[in-house]
Amino acid sequence: MTFTTKEAQFSRPDLQQVELEKVMVELDYVKKQSERLDLINKLHARMAGVLSLTGMIEAYSVWLMPLVEHELIGYNNSSRKKRHLFCSGHGPNRRKAINFAEQLIDNKSPLNGSFTNKNGRYAYKWVFETADDAGILLILKKGHKLSPQEIDLINHSFEILAECLRRGLEYEDLFERASNDQLTGLSNRRVFEDRIYGMIDSAKRHHHALSMISMDLDKFKEINDNLGHQAGDEVLKVVADVLKRAVRSTDLLVRMGGDEFLLILDNTDLKSGRILAERLCVAVDKLNIWANETTKLGVSIGLTQLKQEESMRQWLERTDDILYHAKAEGRSRVAVE
Ligand code: GH3
Ligand code: MG
Repeated sequence: MTFTTKEAQFSRPDLQQVELEKVMVELDYVKKQSERLDLINKLHARMAGVLSLTGMIEAYSVWLMPLVEHELIGYNNSSRKKRHLFCSGHGPNRRKAINFAEQLIDNKSPLNGSFTNKNGRYAYKWVFETADDAGILLILKKGHKLSPQEIDLINHSFEILAECLRRGLEYEDLFERASNDQLTGLSNRRVFEDRIYGMIDSAKRHHHALSMISMDLDKFKEINDNLGHQAGDEVLKVVADVLKRAVRSTDLLVRMGGDEFLLILDNTDLKSGRILAERLCVAVDKLNIWANETTKLGVSIGLTQLKQEESMRQWLERTDDILYHAKAEGRSRVAVE
């Protein structure tokens, strides 16, 4: 920069001041940018290696907490039927926050900006879209609203979060395909192998009753032979739906292959197991599916309770023997040991 002597004497201090202020503003901007970059890097690092959607929502909440105090982060993807709510509170507060979040997520009308209910909870709902999907993210705060800077930071973090959630959805799809039987949607033998040892260990350690219901459809080959393989597939699906409806979330229901199904009943002894087994037998009979004029579809069931000293293989074999009795005694019945 050049000045004439006169101008320099007259204006240099002012100009220097202006330059200095400009530099300070720029520095401040660069500092803020670099702080933001640092925060975003921290978010990247926290999300790295997390595969499940639940884990991602939790990791996002942990990252955000020191920057934006909040009660709950909620994620909902209705097309994929995925919902994950991560709430940091406990007891009644937690229940209230979760109820409130669920109401807001279920509320179809778009919610832009802030929202508050009587108890001073503020909810922010974002709808964000990735290339092939859309999800809702909900942030719940108690007491006060988000500041514009906080909203700005959250908006910036979405680029990373959306990309991670997309990866999480892909992973869950893959995992589901590997764990579910394609025809019936029930868990497959792999899931059985994964979970059964843990269930047995826990039942033995805590002296809980653990029962097994082994089922094999009766004369199923005749359905295939007389009505066709596709009709056979439909029958397997209908039977699987009947079984699904009868079990609790803590039970393990699997299609072991062909027309064989297994049900492991947690905390259930032979007495309660028998009531359920009889119910299943009647439910399949009531489907009223006939292979021909004389052959009706039924299910034969073997029911056993795990013994303290027996291994998984021994228990499976014993149950298979009991099921064989049900077949030998005339089918469409429950045999218990
Ligand atoms: P049982 O009363 O003694 O159990 O005789 P079953 O006719 O039911 O015959 P079994 O249980 O020995 O064999 C099951 C048959 O199920 C054999 C196979 O052809 C058929 N099957 C296995 N998987 C499928 C499938 O995915 N779809 C269809 N449609 N049929 C299958
Ligand atoms: Mg069969």
